[in-house]
Amino acid sequence: MVQAKSWTLKKHFEGFPTDSNFELKTTELPPLNNGEVLLEALFISVDPYMRYCLSPQFSIVVESKNPAFPAGTIVVALSGWTSHSISDGNGLRKLPAEWPDKLPLSLALGTVGMPGLTAYFGLLDICGVKGGETVMVNAAAGAVGSVVGQIAKLKGCKVVGAAGSDEKVAYLKKLGFDVAFNYKTVKSLEEALRMASPDGYDCYFDNVGGEFSNTVISQMKTFGRIAICGAISQYNRTGPCPQGIVLLNVGGMDKRKIHRYGDGVGTAVVSSQLVVVDNSPVDQKGVEETEGGAWRTSTVSLTVDMSLDPVTQTNPPFPGPPPEVVIYQQLRMEGFIVTRWQGDVRQKALTDLMNWVSEGKIQYHEYMLEGFEKMPAAFMGMLKGENLGKAIVKA
Ligand code: NDP
Repeated sequence: MVQAKSWTLKKHFEGFPTDSNFELKTTELPPLNNGEVLLEALFISVDPYMRYCLSPQFSIVVESKNPAFPAGTIVVALSGWTSHSISDGNGLRKLPAEWPDKLPLSLALGTVGMPGLTAYFGLLDICGVKGGETVMVNAAAGAVGSVVGQIAKLKGCKVVGAAGSDEKVAYLKKLGFDVAFNYKTVKSLEEALRMASPDGYDCYFDNVGGEFSNTVISQMKTFGRIAICGAISQYNRTGPCPQGIVLLNVGGMDKRKIHRYGDGVGTAVVSSQLVVVDNSPVDQKGVEETEGGAWRTSTVSLTVDMSLDPVTQTNPPFPGPPPEVVIYQQLRMEGFIVTRWQGDVRQKALTDLMNWVSEGKIQYHEYMLEGFEKMPAAFMGMLKGENLGKAIVKA
């Protein structure tokens, strides 16, 4: 009998994950039925989307009743945070037969796996990047971002990357990024982006979302393309929207009005702590509605309740990019999930990535923690930005 160790979700995440969200359980696996294999995890991928679904792992078949996967076969499986699992073979992916001996197998979870494919299709298909263009990518020193920047360089682009530490910035420069900056220490993100590319950006590969994206999108060139890959700045968000949408309850009366940052609705512009009425700053003691629907100061009490969406009465999403920029710059934004590309195109992309890495055209870095028990720590560390390159746990 095989004992499988598994990390389970003890309680759902509220805000940033903590140790109390996770529980380590041991279960006894049943004997194999015909057609099944027993997998043992070698490396487990640590991904931001683990908040929502299972992560892949790189496993070895230790016992088999499935002739397609004899014992000793190495596969990538969507088994999640478990040391051992049973599979009927569905969804198991073997390593490409031509995998070079000199490449670490763990790359199948990173640069030559799902994150590499995400970078490849997001940049080449969704952005449709061309040589000579300027590309911006954030979370640039991570698993996806570092590959985005390097493919863009291979295609003859100017590349600007933002990352969250000086060590990461130095790494990006080593990879050949034309400009890299630490978004946590620059005085103004807007200024840093403008200095990096005064003419603006043709392509924006967005891993972060939120206010970061609104700032980049405001600097896109005409006909710019934006690949919405991820929104890691928003994954742990709870409670009120940080800024931009506000619900005003005036004096307990039903005089509620929504003002969206910068859209020119009415005359009130609101950030999380500041109410601006008729473009003059006022304190939050009160406003009232004039007949014309504009807001101006008065003595009535004001509650700024940012927790509810006006229509759904639920927690609102982060306000999107300024619509006037999207319209007048004629931008194209598209979200995507990497699993969209299957079959031959996926195979070609993997071969390209494998060749580029083998030839030294794409470099990689792995942030590897050892020990299955480190899974929650690795996950929380990655969300905090502790990883340089692909975060992986060696089981
Ligand atoms: P990374 O290896 O890039 O790790 C996550 C990084 O995000 C951290 O290291 C940190 O780097 C950065 N980060 C965390 N919080 C913030 C924040 N508030 N603002 C800015 N940066 C932050 O992860 P992946 O490469 O695996 O994933 C990158 C993105 O791609 C994620 O959004 C993920 O969900 C998405 N994704 C989408 C896929 C798809 O099919 N659409 C597939 C795979 C990934 P730093 O120190 O620079 O802040």
